[in-house]
Amino acid sequence: MSHSGHVVFLGPPGSGKGTQAELLAKELGAVKISTGDILRSHVSRKTALGEVARPIMERGELVPDDLIVALIREELAGDGKRVIFDGFPRTLAQAEALDRMLSEIGQVIDRAVLLEVPEDQLVERLLKRARLEGRSDDNEATIRHRLEVYRSQTEPLVDYYRNRGILVTISGLGSIDQVFADLKEAVGWR
Ligand code: AMP
Repeated sequence: MSHSGHVVFLGPPGSGKGTQAELLAKELGAVKISTGDILRSHVSRKTALGEVARPIMERGELVPDDLIVALIREELAGDGKRVIFDGFPRTLAQAEALDRMLSEIGQVIDRAVLLEVPEDQLVERLLKRARLEGRSDDNEATIRHRLEVYRSQTEPLVDYYRNRGILVTISGLGSIDQVFADLKEAVGWR
């Protein structure tokens, strides 16, 4: 397997990208960076960023690009390991900022993985997660809003990476193991 760049995961909330990103990170010995997890940690620690992010996350909207880009910049200052990005970038501005930050350190994104799941399934999955994990942004109205935000602000990134020839699309339906097997097959890392 010859693979050296970083990987971004695209896909709507509830598509399972956090789970798949985690599995892939383990498989590759890479680091997973999840902006959602980092933000939730700030919220629970009540940091200044957490206080700003909390109401935005509860509404199902996106935290401003400059705050997110600053977070990522800190994370990238790490040990130069391969990174699997989960939930980032979510806007074109974030994707462009990521490219700039990486090019400054001579690194690239070389795969974008899109997990596809039909809308009705997403709502069902997210409602289930709300019951299991008690996430405050997983109520039905917020879920629908987060899906709209995904369609309008994040989905354009699919073309951004497709035009670069690094997009891999897989179905997010089926068991976690099945999806992961498809993922490895699609990226040729099996
Ligand atoms: P997630 O766990 O990835 O679904 O993220 C949960 C929430 O955190 C999102 O609905 C946003 O409010 C916020 N968030 C996470 N990642 C980003 C990002 N890259 N840009 C803006 N907001 C984000």
